[in-house]
Amino acid sequence: MRFDVLTLFPEVIESYCNVSIMKRARDNGVISINTVNPRNFTLDKHKKVDDTPFGGGAGMVLMPQPYVDAYDSVEKLDSYLPVMLSPQGEPLNESLVLELTNYNQIILLCGHYEGFDERIREIIKPREISLGDFVLTGGELPALCLIDAVSRKLDGTLGKLESAMEDSFSNGLLEYPHYTKPRDFRGYKVPEVLLNGNHKEIGEYRFQEQLNRTKRKRPDLYEKYLENKDNK
Ligand code: SAM
Repeated sequence: MRFDVLTLFPEVIESYCNVSIMKRARDNGVISINTVNPRNFTLDKHKKVDDTPFGGGAGMVLMPQPYVDAYDSVEKLDSYLPVMLSPQGEPLNESLVLELTNYNQIILLCGHYEGFDERIREIIKPREISLGDFVLTGGELPALCLIDAVSRKLDGTLGKLESAMEDSFSNGLLEYPHYTKPRDFRGYKVPEVLLNGNHKEIGEYRFQEQLNRTKRKRPDLYEKYLENKDNK
């Protein structure tokens, strides 16, 4: 899958995507990430990309010309989706992440300052996606969250040892607790059942833990899980 990121701060995207699992996914050819800086497209001799809002008010607004020209410059594959990172968008969650894996290319528009001139929305008609009901200074972190979450669903991003099959949300529940060495740390012991090698018992223990902690930490998810189970 290909990600094209329109951003005034490409170094933020590059630095995150050049380490660890994201780097390996790039090196393996599972994903490709390309950054495009709208500042390189401005026709203004001072390379301005923002200006004061018509009608007054605080902050600077991103001008349409550099963003729309930068967007037009991106080569489009046969199945692409423009996405605008925005606190006004639909919240990013597991089902949306899975839906996004169906595209060959996602073109991400990262805002900054007061946000985008409305005509950028009108012309590009992106899907607006939010990281949650809070406001960040820029769209780079939400873009990275989306790239990361979508990438780890793609075949070849995670090795066998990092399988996403049992991650939280994959079966509608939170994941069970993990333990590693030592068996006893400051008197806190690893549950006996994990040490006995009985895989049936371990499976039952882990499933029960999933139910318990989902009920405790996320009663909303737990209710939904029960409803879906009853409707099956
Ligand atoms: N004035 C805008 C508003 O109230 O809707 C907020 C602009 S915000 C300061 C600047 C940029 O950060 C946005 O254009 C968007 O790209 C990004 N951003 C901020 N919060 C976000 C969130 N919760 N989800 C996704 N993107 C966000």
